[in-house]
Amino acid sequence: MTSEQKIALKQKIEQEINNTKAQIEELKVLTQPIKPENSLGRVSRMDAINNKSINDRGLRMAKMKLTKLEMAFEKIDESAFGKCSRCKNNIQEKRLMLLPESTLCVRCAR
Ligand SMILES: [Zn+2]
Repeated sequence: MTSEQKIALKQKIEQEINNTKAQIEELKVLTQPIKPENSLGRVSRMDAINNKSINDRGLRMAKMKLTKLEMAFEKIDESAFGKCSRCKNNIQEKRLMLLPESTLCVRCAR
């Protein structure tokens, strides 16, 4: 990877970190405890529970993604950055731009 590509990737990671943080904030609001039964109808309470479990899952995934992105951001200047953690080949640059948090190449991720 050239230094220009690294700079572009760094910016991309920073941007992704910000997006993910914003997403986490939104999901935190959406995953607050559901109001007691009597304030909602039965059906909308069921909906609220369903939506909450979807959002809970989304929140967990977003937090995991944030951790990975922050790790990628810290490691970007290390020589091992961009190498597949399984086969040690370089991870395709396109893949890194798309998913900067990836630690596996396309083949190993499959
Ligand atoms: Zn690999």
